[in-house]
Amino acid sequence: MKSWKLTSSPVVTGQCLCGAVRFEMEYPAFWAWHDHSRASRLAHGAVYATYVGTWRKRFRITAGEREINRFEEKETGAVRSFCRRCGTPLIYERTRSRHMINIPRALFQSRTGRQPIYHIAIEEMQDWAHAGEPLVPLKGYPGVFCRRSKKKRRIEARLSASIRSRCS
Ligand SMILES: [Zn+2]
Repeated sequence: MKSWKLTSSPVVTGQCLCGAVRFEMEYPAFWAWHDHSRASRLAHGAVYATYVGTWRKRFRITAGEREINRFEEKETGAVRSFCRRCGTPLIYERTRSRHMINIPRALFQSRTGRQPIYHIAIEEMQDWAHAGEPLVPLKGYPGVFCRRSKKKRRIEARLSASIRSRCS
């Protein structure tokens, strides 16, 4: 049977792309969420960012502290830290919750104890974000998938409508 000292919790670890910065977080995280805000979209260069939030005291940088640069957002006062060698976003600190810090979910190598079931700034969600529509393989391009063409979807919709009318 596994036993833990009273003072130590299980931890999960993560790192930046180049590996210079490494960190650990006590398991489980407090929560996890998708952030669709413009600021996070730009900071990540991605359609949205997925964060894991935890108490500051449950998070530790274990290597590469000197490689971390901080950028403060003028309008909000939020601070975003990133690896100055590879540019990976590392920590997002919001002024409204000073005891919490947020780490990109993608940097963890294992489960964090929380599923990202929450969304913030959903009204800023981009119409080019993939929202789980069915995908089909693109002919002649192995590994590339695309949305089904509108024409095929229209045909399917007409078919299912006519099936429904026949069945009712
Ligand atoms: Zn790095």
